[in-house]
Amino acid sequence: MAPAGAESGGRSAEPAGFQNPVAGFGVTFKAMFKKRLTEQYPEQPKTTAPRFHGRHQLNRHPDGLEKCVGCELCAWACPADAIYVEGADNTDEERYSPGERYGRVYQINYARCILCGLCIEACPTRALTMTNEFELADSSRENLIYTKEQLLAGLDEGMVDSPHAIYPGTDEQDYYRGLVTEAAPGTEIQTATSKGEKPDSEGVDA
Ligand code: SF4
Ligand code: SF4
Repeated sequence: MAPAGAESGGRSAEPAGFQNPVAGFGVTFKAMFKKRLTEQYPEQPKTTAPRFHGRHQLNRHPDGLEKCVGCELCAWACPADAIYVEGADNTDEERYSPGERYGRVYQINYARCILCGLCIEACPTRALTMTNEFELADSSRENLIYTKEQLLAGLDEGMVDSPHAIYPGTDEQDYYRGLVTEAAPGTEIQTATSKGEKPDSEGVDA
């Protein structure tokens, strides 16, 4: 019977003892002629793939109202328990989204988040998406908890900051049908008044 570790014919499967270091240097030798992959970060940050999962964003409708309805589905879908949501009812005086409810409190803890994207898949209104921003490191745990104000998207052309009324003559469904494309004339006055600010007459449509 052949001894354990030996091939048939009496030859050993292992290289001879003096060959082991040489084989190790072979790997090093091959790597010496490969193209260098050193990246000059942060001076020259690399562009991410278009669908890279980075920092989250809470999106708005084209008139500036918020898409989040405070349903908490994203929080339930999160395997890392990184999302905290508190929903609340909209009122005629203070409306943040076209429907009945909105996200009053919204937080994502980036000390927990693994950027897996399950939360954005669970969101029924496409309120929650992920950007390509990946520079999220911080030395403070507190700073890694992003609030709704930090996550809410900025205002594009034609948008007015919430709270304000829905576009006159439309309902919540019309927002999802794409029938509302910008804020109604006079929305800025309404928003400023509801925030207790003095309306800026120059920035208001006739
Ligand atoms: S990306 Fe994943 S871990 Fe991060 S908040 Fe969403 S579900 Fe949770
Ligand atoms: S982000 Fe989407 S899933 Fe999360 S509470 Fe808002 S509407 Fe619901």
